[in-house]
Amino acid sequence: MSNYADIVVIADQIKNDLRPITFELLGAATDLAKKLGVKVQAIVMGYELGDIPQTLFHYGANEVFVVDKPELAEYTTLTYRRAALAVLEAMERPPHILLCGATTIGRDLAPRIAAYFETGLTADCTELEIGDYEHKGKADPAKTGLHKDCLYAIRPSFGESLKARILGPWKNPQMATARVGTMMPNEPDNSRTGKIIPVSVNFDESDFRVSVEETVYEVSNTVDLTQAKVIVSGGFGLGSADGFDVVRDLSSAFADSAVGSSRKAVDAGWIPYAHQVGQSGKTVRPALYIALGISGAIQHRVGMSNSATIIAVNKDEDAPIFQFAHYGIVGDLYEVAPLLKERFKTAMAGDVNVAKVGG
Ligand SMILES: Cc1cc2nc3c(=O)[nH]c(=O)nc-3n(C[C@H](O)[C@H](O)[C@H](O)COP(=O)(O)OP(=O)(O)OC[C@H]3O[C@@H](n4cnc5c(N)ncnc54)[C@H](O)[C@@H]3O)c2cc1C
Repeated sequence: MSNYADIVVIADQIKNDLRPITFELLGAATDLAKKLGVKVQAIVMGYELGDIPQTLFHYGANEVFVVDKPELAEYTTLTYRRAALAVLEAMERPPHILLCGATTIGRDLAPRIAAYFETGLTADCTELEIGDYEHKGKADPAKTGLHKDCLYAIRPSFGESLKARILGPWKNPQMATARVGTMMPNEPDNSRTGKIIPVSVNFDESDFRVSVEETVYEVSNTVDLTQAKVIVSGGFGLGSADGFDVVRDLSSAFADSAVGSSRKAVDAGWIPYAHQVGQSGKTVRPALYIALGISGAIQHRVGMSNSATIIAVNKDEDAPIFQFAHYGIVGDLYEVAPLLKERFKTAMAGDVNVAKVGG
């Protein structure tokens, strides 16, 4: 039995639909919990949550705290803050680690919780680890010395040219938000179950200073890049907006695929920002990432280098992308892309699993 308190994940749901980040956080929390010898707990807040707690067990939670109230049907900062704190205050001691998604909800809620506990919060992490830390500074003697099993919240910084490891071991919970698409979910296990702990909450009049009049959901025609199994991305090497026809054409060869882009192509006005991959765009980890006419700048790389297989097509054999692509093709993308499409179509007709291509 570990001396540490448990790890808590705040489930991210909209209209009782668990967002993919919830499964990613549970995956990361499972790894951290194994190292610490503690449990993974989830907090889910909403109304008429049905079998959501069971789903959280399937993806790695050991215990689920449920706050199910009509007042929580729609997210608002103050009601969700009150509900989250009702759960956290009911615990014997604050969690060792508390994780939220770097989503609209998580980015809003996490700082409120951190402020309540007067603890630190590292935003937009791409990796989470456990490690020891020896603080040699003497300015504050309470902080000096060896701190065991701290949360290493890792995120790109300085224009994504460095990975910063950010620690705050002096106070629990040690908190982080994680970027969508950067953590690996566990394989769901439908036989897993656990303890459901209902928690009541007493709202205060002040929690309703803000009310939601109407929620408008935008229906997007673009596939969510963070969920696509295959991404075909185009860069400035396409030469013009029309070049994306070639990208779309290659992408259409795959089910569950999406079109991505470098920032330079977005900045040129060739494709909307929603397609941008990289530091200031989306972080993705598809089974297959095909980069057409992308040089491989660090700001692009940080958004896609966790893809299982990367194929790069570039006419410059010294392009940086060849240093980290699994397969590199030196050539003109306009000649290579149609050939690739034919090869993949033939391979897939022969029942070759795309995820295994090049694997
Ligand atoms: C703060 C900050 C944030 C940023 N965020 C992002 C981000 O989120 N995402 C991102 O992508 N970038 C980002 N950038 C920009 C990044 O630094 C690069 O400028 C950008 O990624 C370059 O895009 P590119 O590879 O498409 O263009 P280029 O660097 O111009 O590369 C084009 C490539 O196409 C090749 N090429 C040309 N013609 C052909 C052809 N016919 N066939 C095959 N290959 C060809 C060339 O050899 C070249 O390698 C950011 C920069 C900063 C400073």
